[in-house]
Amino acid sequence: MNTLSQRICAALDALPKLELHCHIEGTLRPATLVELAGRNGVRLPTTDLTELYRYDSLDGFLSVFWLGQETLSRPDDWERLAYESVLDGTAHGVVYRESFFSPARHLAAGQRLDDIVAALDAGLTAGEVETGVRYQLIGDIDRAFGRVAAEQFVGELAALRRAGVRLRRCRLGMVIRRGRGIPATRGRAARDQSLRASRPDR
Ligand SMILES: [Zn+2]
Repeated sequence: MNTLSQRICAALDALPKLELHCHIEGTLRPATLVELAGRNGVRLPTTDLTELYRYDSLDGFLSVFWLGQETLSRPDDWERLAYESVLDGTAHGVVYRESFFSPARHLAAGQRLDDIVAALDAGLTAGEVETGVRYQLIGDIDRAFGRVAAEQFVGELAALRRAGVRLRRCRLGMVIRRGRGIPATRGRAARDQSLRASRPDR
């Protein structure tokens, strides 16, 4: 017999949900995180799947969030992230989601934006085919990487679209307030802040 908490969880999962602010890297399954970390040489504080995502502060949350990001080193890592994100979101009642992706540190480390976008799109597409639920992407740039990186990111996404790369899921956020510098965001150090979209590019 199901416990009361199990029945409550099932009822909550059954509620349809629109999710408009989800950072896709934060949906990385704990088991996937551990697997990718092992393969990519990322040291983890624990491999206990029930402990990995435990935190008691914003800093604690951000630490594990960045840790998950760090494990994404190949296009198929991004594809798997996106695919599993769709399956897991749908299983918990998501009927539509807009997911941020924040590749600044990956680009700085030599990954290519077109590879990342293509991989995310492939993963989302596979998940959508399986679930029938629609997911979208929003490009996001980390504040700490500065204005030049932000403008380059915007330019690269625009160039990819002009080149015919499938970017129909990308709503590109404008990260710069011209003449005012980069807007302040809350939280701890600036490096932990993402600038959110304030203007779609189409
Ligand atoms: Zn956010």
